[in-house]
Amino acid sequence: MSLFRLSGQARAVKALEGLIGAGRLPSAILLSGIEGCGKARLAHELAQLLVCPRRPPDGPACGDCRDCQAVAKRVHPDVKAVDAAYQAALREEEAAKQRSLRVDTIRHLRRDMELKSLLGGWKVAVIEDAHTLEIEAANALLKILEEPPPKTLWLLVTSQRDRIPKTVLSRCFQLRCSPLPDEAVAAILAAQGVDAGRARELAALCEGSASRALELSRREGWPAALTQGPLGPIAAGDSLPKELYLARAEAELALFALGQRLRLRPLSGEADFEAVDRPLRELAELRRALRANADPRAVLTLAALETQGALAK
Ligand SMILES: [Zn+2]
Repeated sequence: MSLFRLSGQARAVKALEGLIGAGRLPSAILLSGIEGCGKARLAHELAQLLVCPRRPPDGPACGDCRDCQAVAKRVHPDVKAVDAAYQAALREEEAAKQRSLRVDTIRHLRRDMELKSLLGGWKVAVIEDAHTLEIEAANALLKILEEPPPKTLWLLVTSQRDRIPKTVLSRCFQLRCSPLPDEAVAAILAAQGVDAGRARELAALCEGSASRALELSRREGWPAALTQGPLGPIAAGDSLPKELYLARAEAELALFALGQRLRLRPLSGEADFEAVDRPLRELAELRRALRANADPRAVLTLAALETQGALAK
C-alpha cells in the first residue's frame, strides 16, 4: 500500500517511501518541479503522515481526521504553511503584495518551530515558493537547517530550483517531481466536476500542470472562445478584469493556451507546421510586449486576431 494518496508522482513517492521505510527521513527536503505538478500537495501529505493519529503503520494518512483536515486547510498548529498569506498575516499587509520571503518571516518561523509541539509530536514547516527567499532570509534558514530543532521537518517547495542558493540546496535532500501525466491531470479536473471530454482537451494543453488546467477550466470555452467569430478577439480583450495585475495574469494564461492549441494542431494532423509557425512567432512577440508592460487588453485582442486564421477549422 502506498503512503501517499496523490497520483502522478510515482518516482518522488517511491523515493519518500524508501526513506520513511528505512527510518531515514531527512530533516530538510527540497521538492522541485513545474507549477501545478502536485509538489506542495506531496509536501502536505508528508506532513499529514507525521501528524495523523489514525494512520495505519503501512498506509497513508487518513485524510479526514481533524489533524489531516487542518493540514489540508493550512491551519494545523504544528504544520506551518509558509507562503504569501503567512507573511501577510505577520506584516498585516495584503497577500498579493508579498513578492519575496523576508528574513523577519524566517526568524518568526524559527521561533515558532522551536516551541514544543502542541500535541507532543512532530512539527513541520512547508516553505512554498522557496525561490522567493531573500538572501538574508535564505541565510537565516541555512542556520536553522544546519542545526534543526529536534523532531522538526523542513520542506522547501519550488518551481525554480536554480534560484535557490547552493548553500541551502546542499543542506536539503532533493526530490524532483515530474510534470503530471495527462491522465492524472484529466482525473484531477474530472474530480472537480469538469466534463470528461473537456478535461482531456485541457490536460493535453497544459504540459503536466494541473493548476494551469484548472485555471483554464474556469474560463468558459477557453481557448476556443477567444478566437471565435469576428468579435471573439475583441470580446476576449474586453473580458479581462479591470485590475491591471489580474488582467495581465489572465492575458498570459490566454496566450499560453492559444500557443499550446497551435502547437497541437500539426501533431493531430489538423494543420501543417508552416501554418502555425508565423502565429507562434507573433505570440512570442506579444508575450514579450506583455512582460514589458503593454496593455493586456490590446495584447490579448491582437493575439486572438493573429491566431484566428490558423486555429479556424
Ligand atoms: Zn488523519
